[in-house]
Amino acid sequence: MVDVLSVEQRRRNMSRIRSRDTKPELFIRRGLHALGLRYRLQDGKLPGRPDLVFSRFHAVIFVHGCFWHGHNCSMFKLPQTRQEFWKAKIASNRARDVRTTDALLEKGWRIVNVWECSLKGPGKLPDGEVLKRCFEFLMSKEVRLVDISGVLITNDEKHK
Ligand SMILES: [Zn+2]
Repeated sequence: MVDVLSVEQRRRNMSRIRSRDTKPELFIRRGLHALGLRYRLQDGKLPGRPDLVFSRFHAVIFVHGCFWHGHNCSMFKLPQTRQEFWKAKIASNRARDVRTTDALLEKGWRIVNVWECSLKGPGKLPDGEVLKRCFEFLMSKEVRLVDISGVLITNDEKHK
């Protein structure tokens, strides 16, 4: 019985590693850990299952892939094929992000959205800038919602 459970647990852990432990997320985790901050990962009891949860600061961090979350930036490009499918998929992800944000704010949580384009690609921020902003946000205790993006944000809502 114990063995069955551990196999199941291992399978779940491995599938989670594949789908969730993206490079930008690992970078944020390691960086904040090195700054002495401690957090829980992917708390399923909270709306949207935030990537990092800082109970002490009543704050969460999401690390968003610009494609999957339909960011208005130079890293988002609609695929050439099955465009209607991708538009619908990404629109539904975006709608879920809005619901998640509302639900967390309503419960008094503070939120940082770290966008992939702040850490890589042509518009990425200078080294250390993203971690610095996360750290300052956590310490501020007042700011409720912050987006950290790269510098190449477009104004056209091309995926709407
Ligand atoms: Zn982006």
